[in-house]
Amino acid sequence: MGRFKNKIKVYIPDRIWQVMRIIFNPKKPKKKLRVEIHVADHCNLNCRGCDNFSCLAKPNYLDLNDYRKDLERLRELFGDDVEWITMMGGEPLLNKDITVYCSIAREIFPKALVRIITNGTLLLKQENAFWESLKKDRILLFVTKYPISFDYDAAKAYAEKMGVGFEYAFESGDVLKTMYMTPIDLEGRQNPKISYQLCGKGNKCITLKHGKMYTCETIPNFFTFNNFFGTDIKVTDDDCIDIYECDDPKKIMKKMASYAPACRYCDNIHYSSGIEWGLTEKKITEWVKK
Ligand code: SF4
Ligand code: SF4
Repeated sequence: MGRFKNKIKVYIPDRIWQVMRIIFNPKKPKKKLRVEIHVADHCNLNCRGCDNFSCLAKPNYLDLNDYRKDLERLRELFGDDVEWITMMGGEPLLNKDITVYCSIAREIFPKALVRIITNGTLLLKQENAFWESLKKDRILLFVTKYPISFDYDAAKAYAEKMGVGFEYAFESGDVLKTMYMTPIDLEGRQNPKISYQLCGKGNKCITLKHGKMYTCETIPNFFTFNNFFGTDIKVTDDDCIDIYECDDPKKIMKKMASYAPACRYCDNIHYSSGIEWGLTEKKITEWVKK
């Protein structure tokens, strides 16, 4: 479907394509929850325009007790309607307890798909215990191939030898060449409804952080951007839903399928074409367009 859409898009000017997306493709609440959890804020790869701002983040790991408590609450709210739990970051393999997070997810959600999204570069440094634990807990490694000198296929072959599921982020195993980063409007002058509707992340990259659910991974990480550049992107309680205050899973899913006030900081109207992958120089202009 994605390829088909891309073919159509070649013949339709961007502006018309945007209007069509707003009118014909409104976001709807999902029936099953696919949730992302950042177990490490920082990353070892430092990509330009990282949407999680991980290349700007100080080393920081998710507290294991908070994590367990949040997953137990999700179980209470959604039961088996939690379809996917994704451990990511930053680079999740920087967290030395990564297998513990995976085992907790598997214990609480025996039927869910539990996976780690990783840049893969630390895989060949892992000890046997890592592989045995992932195999036991049926964890899938979901690996993005970056254009760097790392033998991804050797990592894949090793994972398979150790009985651990391994998938590339792109079906064809292609290398990521373009970063579709969020272009930031520091003044927050964008129409949040339109920006959300044009965004590929809202309602798709639902993120759980410290007992709150966000429609995307960008909002809960704006604090990293603010800390690094001294900016004042405002994130409030209206941008998320507290899973301890809300007892209604339908209400939570509805909130995920609605724009957040913080969407006004994303300029998806004027900049949607992505940037060539490269290492960051940590300049604000990588994210903020004039
Ligand atoms: S895009 Fe992924 S690999 Fe690159 S810096 Fe961000 S988290 Fe790390
Ligand atoms: S803040 Fe809104 S527009 Fe920006 S990435 Fe998240 S969902 Fe998309």
